[in-house]
Amino acid sequence: MTMDTPISQYITFVIISGVLSVLLAIYAYNNKKKFTGMKVFIWSTILSAVYTFAFAFELASGSLREIRFWLNIEYLGMPFISPCSLLLVMHYVGIEKFNTFKKSWIFFVIPAITLLMVTTNEFHHLFYKDLYLHPNVATPMVDVVPGFWYYIHGSYTSGSMFASLFLLWRYWRKTTSIYRKQIVTLAIGITLPMLGALAYVLGLTPLGMDPVPILMCITSTLYVTSIFSTSLLTVAPIAREHIFESMRDGVLVLNLENQIMDFNGAASKLIPALTPKSIGQRLDHVWKRGADTGAFSFGMDDTLDHEQELKWVRGGETSYYRIRSSKLLKSNGQIAGRTIVMIDVTEHTLLQNKLRHLAEIDGLTFIYNRTFFMEKSRELLTAAHLTKTPLSFILLDIDHFKQINDRYGHSVGDFALKHIVMICQQILPTNALFGRYGGEEFAISLPNMSLEQARQTAEQLRAEIAGNPLYSSAKAITITASFGVTQARTADIPLEALLSEADIALYRSKHSGRNAVHLSNQDSVHANQVK
Ligand code: GH3
Ligand code: MG
Ligand code: MG
Repeated sequence: MTMDTPISQYITFVIISGVLSVLLAIYAYNNKKKFTGMKVFIWSTILSAVYTFAFAFELASGSLREIRFWLNIEYLGMPFISPCSLLLVMHYVGIEKFNTFKKSWIFFVIPAITLLMVTTNEFHHLFYKDLYLHPNVATPMVDVVPGFWYYIHGSYTSGSMFASLFLLWRYWRKTTSIYRKQIVTLAIGITLPMLGALAYVLGLTPLGMDPVPILMCITSTLYVTSIFSTSLLTVAPIAREHIFESMRDGVLVLNLENQIMDFNGAASKLIPALTPKSIGQRLDHVWKRGADTGAFSFGMDDTLDHEQELKWVRGGETSYYRIRSSKLLKSNGQIAGRTIVMIDVTEHTLLQNKLRHLAEIDGLTFIYNRTFFMEKSRELLTAAHLTKTPLSFILLDIDHFKQINDRYGHSVGDFALKHIVMICQQILPTNALFGRYGGEEFAISLPNMSLEQARQTAEQLRAEIAGNPLYSSAKAITITASFGVTQARTADIPLEALLSEADIALYRSKHSGRNAVHLSNQDSVHANQVK
């Protein structure tokens, strides 16, 4: 046998194909973490390599005995390749039911029997009825008369291939175009050896040679180029499971009975009671065991989508979650269950609370600022009109505050402001609204208080302020304040008008010598100095 015969060129091709399969297996092995289906892919390339090399040796064999031997080796690989392809495609399209060998062994039963049949053929002739040397060629080649199991093997192989193509076609219809190139590549890779086998069986191949190993070389090349160019087998469609697992948000899948069907790693981090044993248990049971606060209150039975914020205190740490529950629809529109997504919004919520606080609270005295005081007072005013209850206002301004600043310094002035605020807070009822109205001017809204009651409160404040000097470096600084009081009576008076009435009364307190309370003289109620 010389090296330029068609058969030797053919053997060269076959060997290249085998080498390619080995390289592909090595590549897949080094990248197996990127894709759960990689294991199947590695196996299918190893099996291809075994088959291809054995086929090369079969072609190079000089006797029927040698050919028989290499045929046995071929069948160590070949029958297992198409179920591997099918499993690979299942991984690819996201069917994860058979993702371990334990779950997928059933696919390899018929191939295993095939292997057994081939190796023991001489005892039963169920695979080859006959196996003889091709009479008319120079190099020894075999012709076979197929037996009963040969057809089983053939049907099983082509059945697996068709199933793979069907799954790819179904997936093609619902996928986006960026993955379509990959699907086409996979489909061509599966179809080529099928067509080759068909041509071989129909006797259409030159010299009656089996083209499948050569076509598998093309298949391997397709896969290799595809892996390098479009990351076939390593990107999104297959990674569906991976994405689910690597999500930072917790995801739970429930059926209609609120039994847990699936959950991801992030969900079990949030709810430590979620373990693989929780699958099939009702969510509310698991939740009760997992949370300190049982504040999870979805209307589980209704079919709407909800969103809810949940405050969750665990081990002294407060977390906030946005919990989104959406219904899960079958393709016919029926509800199959619901998904629950738990998003950790702790940082966001804390920041929001802080911003709200900053927008509402005066930074020095920690009472409401003017804007927020006005907003809240307007609400009180509306409520008072609606409920026909009294509402009174007090304005107070510290007397000669400039002098305190001038004499003792600005920081003592600040301290004096806090001192006054503290005194007022001790006296004011809890439903009073207390705000810093200006520099050293404060405003108070008093719901449910008549003018007379508010006057008494103001008088109490005045006396307490005047009677509690500020102690600064062992020196007592007596501070006084002047007050103006008014009451909201007629419906249409805006807040600003009421406060300016109070301001006029306050002005009169200042003019009467300070440290005094005056009432606004609306409805000809005359101001009476109470000092
Ligand atoms: P009157 O009895 O007429 O109210 O005299 P007054 O000195 O209190 O009145 P005026 O409105 O002239 O002065 C208010 C002073 O309050 C002026 C300003 O420097 C001081 N002030 C305003 N806000 C602050 C503050 O946040 N801290 C300090 N330390 N002083 C402030
Ligand atoms: Mg002032
Ligand atoms: Mg003042």
